[in-house]
Amino acid sequence: MRLRNIPGSREAIAENHWCIQEPEHQKGNWHQIFGNNHPIHIEIGMGKGRFLMTLARENPNINYIGIEKYSSVLLRALQKMEEAPLENIRFIRMDAETITDIFLQDEVTKIYLNFSDPWPKDRHAKRRLTSRQFFARYHLILQQEGCVEFKTDNQDLFDFSLEEVREAGWRLDGCTRDLHHDEKMIQGNIMTEYEERFSSMGNPIYKLIASR
Ligand code: SAM
Repeated sequence: MRLRNIPGSREAIAENHWCIQEPEHQKGNWHQIFGNNHPIHIEIGMGKGRFLMTLARENPNINYIGIEKYSSVLLRALQKMEEAPLENIRFIRMDAETITDIFLQDEVTKIYLNFSDPWPKDRHAKRRLTSRQFFARYHLILQQEGCVEFKTDNQDLFDFSLEEVREAGWRLDGCTRDLHHDEKMIQGNIMTEYEERFSSMGNPIYKLIASR
């Protein structure tokens, strides 16, 4: 998702209470930001953030951090926070390639990846958020009992991701090629903006859960 550049979005983000500036300075200190020791769940590529805000509202005992590459997209999430503030959520504008610079080993309990960019060219495979290179990064920040949950409507990306889970030496804890008709995996499902759009077009939604 890359919205038209919104003039002033970088400045608006820089001054926002919910957006963490210089997140690498918080490495190892995230619990202080939230003022409690609740587990931290993150979403990488959160877009406008509805999924994460819904989770945060439903689970006050979990802290959520949304990561998004583009300020114009993140700004939409911040505007929603002004309307309905939540204290168990924060946002970071960054490219997740450097995610190991901002979290220590064991600081994160769950990673959500929803409708991640497919990067269809083979030479860009390592940019996919479910590539073995990203699983190696997740290994460095995730608690041993933590997991990655990934949803997409892109069959090629899903097949690639299953292969990468195996290559990375991770375990598949759940897998469906039709989430919305899978009685077990649909439990507690929260639709993302993209999920709503693609499922309304009749596309099946794929989901996997992976852990070590
Ligand atoms: N997760 C949302 C949803 O399901 O509605 C948005 C999906 S959108 C297709 C993917 C989002 O991931 C975009 O907003 C994009 O900017 C962001 N993104 C892609 N690669 C990223 C990266 N390496 N680091 C941070 N954000 C990234």
